[in-house]
Amino acid sequence: MQVQTGFRFRCYPTSAQAQVLLRWMGCQRFIDNAKVTEDRYYRKFARKALGLPEQYPPVDQQYSRYIDQELTPWLKDVPSQVLRNGAVRWRQAVARYFQGLGGRPVIRKKIGRQAVWLTSELFAFKPIVDTQTGEILGNRLTVGTPKMAVGDILFNAHRDYRIPNSIRIGVEAGKWFLSFSNECLSQVPDEAETVEWLRKFSEEELRARTFGGDRGVEIPLAGNHGETFDFDPVQKARMEKKAHQAKRYQRQMARQRTQAVKEKRPSGANYGKTKKRFAKSCQYGKNVREDFAHKTSRAIVHHPDHLLMVYEDLNVKGMTKKPKAKKDENGKWAKNQAAAKAGLSKKILTAAWGKTVTFTKYKAIKAGKLCIPINPYQTSQECAECGYIHPDNRVSQSEFVCQACGHQDNADHNAGRVIARRGVRLLLSGGYAPKEVKRCGIFRRKANEAIGPVRSEFTPGESIVSRMAGNGRTQGTGHPLPEGRNQEILFVREEPPTTTVQMV
Ligand SMILES: [Zn+2]
Repeated sequence: MQVQTGFRFRCYPTSAQAQVLLRWMGCQRFIDNAKVTEDRYYRKFARKALGLPEQYPPVDQQYSRYIDQELTPWLKDVPSQVLRNGAVRWRQAVARYFQGLGGRPVIRKKIGRQAVWLTSELFAFKPIVDTQTGEILGNRLTVGTPKMAVGDILFNAHRDYRIPNSIRIGVEAGKWFLSFSNECLSQVPDEAETVEWLRKFSEEELRARTFGGDRGVEIPLAGNHGETFDFDPVQKARMEKKAHQAKRYQRQMARQRTQAVKEKRPSGANYGKTKKRFAKSCQYGKNVREDFAHKTSRAIVHHPDHLLMVYEDLNVKGMTKKPKAKKDENGKWAKNQAAAKAGLSKKILTAAWGKTVTFTKYKAIKAGKLCIPINPYQTSQECAECGYIHPDNRVSQSEFVCQACGHQDNADHNAGRVIARRGVRLLLSGGYAPKEVKRCGIFRRKANEAIGPVRSEFTPGESIVSRMAGNGRTQGTGHPLPEGRNQEILFVREEPPTTTVQMV
């Protein structure tokens, strides 16, 4: 099985280049949103007009009708490929929707992360060759068409990569990124194969090689072998400070906006400045949580003793949602514990549960290991020794004492063991079946040709590049990579041991 790997490098366009790229992003978004709006309009029309049942607009990638000399002259200022990619992006989203892979495409907002999708006509990676030794030092990324050139954009390639067929250049909270995805160089076993292989182990053997993680609010993640994963105290303090700061900026923004409305003028430059500061303060926590999720998942998956990772199938989205507003018998607003839930929700999100599991899953696949969900029902009340379930077992937040066998343990550790045991039993009993991965390639239509998935966005035959640095900017200043860091993960399939493994 081949897996896709994503790459996200920092890039550094000059302010003039940034201006051009922002315009491209805006125009691509405009076409994309025009498609969404048009589709909505036609669907509503077809629903309402009785004479026109089942009349829908064609799902195509035409966009010329949106270019108007009077109304949208600015669309002429960007390369046509940028506009077309906006239409293709929409068409792809519709294709995904019809395959059941996602919802209907929605309006893209002007706030938050913005990106422009560039196909191979719009960029080129050219090798930088050392004139004296003839060695290839890196790649130069040139963006633009001959008529509308943007120039060379500096980027920091902190990992080896292959030259892709399409890229995205995006900006988030003032930082620019170059991202793309490629197929992994090495083959990894299918999930079904991994399941088969793990089933050869006995229950005891597999339990010794299983990681069961209990996600909590006090400690983000506690394992069945007694390990705990938590944020750095400095990071915690800073996250709190930044969250506090963000709130202050939000209030300031509200004040500035009210002032502008009072004076009947558009909000000014200071409002924009506050908005940027606000975005920056929010970004810190996000970065720390992502970093935590990556490091934790890496430590778990690459541990030599872990072959199976088990986690509770929690509905994080549902748990962190705002509670519904309640009314009492007299029609008055009743208390719905919103404040209490907001505190817990924030803590859960801070603990980065969702991300850690998502990252563990894909890292496990790449390492030829397995990560499976289990039913979370009463995991915190079950005894890991005898299996007795009772609410009284949980003496306090951190203490567990079994009412049947008297087993005493740290509550998180006990829960981790219960989770690991449930995962092992689920796998060995055949209750776990890998999901079929559905994928949707780009649809291309040529004249007189049927529609269909012709090729995926990332075709084989991409040239292989093995480079440390991008455009030379990072050479010397970039961190040297530790040896072997960028090698594809090798996995060795050992046969199940014949001797009994000591239980931990
Ligand atoms: Zn017990």
